Amino acid sequence: MERKLVSIQRIDAIDPIAGADNIVKARVMGWDVVVKKSEFTPGSPCVFFEIDSVLPEGKPWAEFMRPRGFRVKTARLRGVLSQGLALPVDILPAGSELPELGTDIRDLLGVVKYEPVLPDTREIAGAFPGQVPKTDEIRLQSALGVLDEMRGRDFYVTTKCDGTSATYFRSLDGELVACSRNWALVRGPNPVWRMADQLGLERVIPPGFALQGELCGPGIQKNRLGLTELALFVFNVYDTRAGRFLDLAEMKVFCAERKLSTVPVEAVLEGDAAVEFPHSLELWLERAKGLYEGTRNRKEGIVVRPLHDARSETLGGRMSWKVINNDFLLKDDD
Ligand code: ATP
Ligand code: MN
Repeated sequence: MERKLVSIQRIDAIDPIAGADNIVKARVMGWDVVVKKSEFTPGSPCVFFEIDSVLPEGKPWAEFMRPRGFRVKTARLRGVLSQGLALPVDILPAGSELPELGTDIRDLLGVVKYEPVLPDTREIAGAFPGQVPKTDEIRLQSALGVLDEMRGRDFYVTTKCDGTSATYFRSLDGELVACSRNWALVRGPNPVWRMADQLGLERVIPPGFALQGELCGPGIQKNRLGLTELALFVFNVYDTRAGRFLDLAEMKVFCAERKLSTVPVEAVLEGDAAVEFPHSLELWLERAKGLYEGTRNRKEGIVVRPLHDARSETLGGRMSWKVINNDFLLKDDD
């Protein structure tokens, strides 16, 4: 599911904030967001901006965000976590009909997504291979329905590694394509290709398969995993002919046979433990906290998937979601 950066949503609940007269805590989907008192009542529609929305310059309703560079970030107000921004629907262009609940209206309002690193266009060789899904994970708070879909299933949890997404696809005629998040890259000294050569991916990926992982190490993001050299942590193996991702067990064997590392598997829950597992937003937000092993760096979060790949109706695609560590969002998100 594409992330809905800006959409009409319903205010599900409103709670007072101790010691605050002018602001209250509202609940929108799985998000807590601080809003002006008396701007909303439970059940009112609002325009909801998820974190990382960058509001347009020159619109009166967005001016109050100028001191913050117009970017919606996680904040703590009077001790209350606030994630996102809820504004009244009267900020919508006059005369326009109220858009349907949940449709992305970022373009209507001129909102763009904050992107920390700009791709280096000099290295682009071409389009991302159409046979391979791009890597992405939806945030649990924006898709709470997945909790019920996961309930009762065997599942596993991996560490969300803070690096850069890499996809390696070997076409049926044996040619290797190495890609960043969105583009095929020119073969050269860039880290994505360096890793391919180091791991011999041209030989070890079977034709028709794609390998997707997080490339981490010195010089990539802030190297929060504290690595001394470049490393690839595989989280997907995709069979383009069958149109399916390998299950965890298959992926582990695939990687072990080729001396590749997977992302750290923090937990596997099966059988009774999985059936009894009390999936809830609160529980998962707690589970997402912690440090990268062997470091003092807060981890970005976790990714949760069923042990046997499945489709999610909520997501309209593969059942898989991320839970971002709120401590990380408050203190390290830059
Ligand atoms: P958003 O969708 O929230 O706006 P985004 O699109 O930049 O943000 P990320 O926060 O980078 O997404 O989360 C998705 C990415 O996480 C994937 O594309 C993948 O590169 C990376 N990732 C890191 N660790 C894992 C993991 N263990 N499992 C799956 N993906 C992972
Ligand atoms: Mn995304």
